[in-house]
Amino acid sequence: MLLQSNFVVIATRNEGKVKEFEKLFGAKGYKVRCLTDYTDLPEIVESGTTFAENARIKAQIISAHLHVPVLADDSGLCVAALNGEPGVYSARYAGENATDSDNNAKLLQALREVVSIDGLPADAEHPKLLSEASFVCALTLIDPVANEVIEAEDSCRGYIIGEERGESGFGYDPLFYIPALGRTMAELTMEEKNEMSHRAKALRMFLDRLPDQND
Ligand code: IMP
Repeated sequence: MLLQSNFVVIATRNEGKVKEFEKLFGAKGYKVRCLTDYTDLPEIVESGTTFAENARIKAQIISAHLHVPVLADDSGLCVAALNGEPGVYSARYAGENATDSDNNAKLLQALREVVSIDGLPADAEHPKLLSEASFVCALTLIDPVANEVIEAEDSCRGYIIGEERGESGFGYDPLFYIPALGRTMAELTMEEKNEMSHRAKALRMFLDRLPDQND
């Protein structure tokens, strides 16, 4: 059976993702470890062309090395007006060592080249919507001992707006606006984001299969 121990290794160094996973797994009594808790790990080259391929690559490499169950997340932002970009290049959109703010600036620059914002309605409550967009998350959990693999993928829809709003979350959250809530992802609490995010939706299937360690 998957996860006989009370912890799961997440194949990431992204602090924002780790915080979300800690909260989601914590509700079922599991602790989360991530790649920064280990040394001498093999190099991971995210050479896949889809989120699912990259999640599989990360889970395979790390689970084969550590011999424990490993969950890998590959996720990113797909923007309609940019034909799905930045997609699997979301983390390195503005370059190999790009920060979140470099990537957000590059996204707005790319959008301004293809979208005219003249005439779009805008006020504090109704920001200019530059393009439809989706956050996508692919997850692969590999248990190398039980020889078990589980995969899931889900998404979350919204719009890119012309300026950053909010301080929470990470990555493209300040530019990702959800009209039904009237807020960006970075203006949600972590609890609210974990109700509706691409990552939380994809993870729900895994969580449903895990015994509750609190029982
Ligand atoms: P990965 O670590 O290769 O999967 O790259 C994920 C990248 O996609 C992050 O660095 C962010 O730029 C973006 N991303 C993924 N999920 C989110 C999210 O929940 N909010 C904001 N940006 C995200």
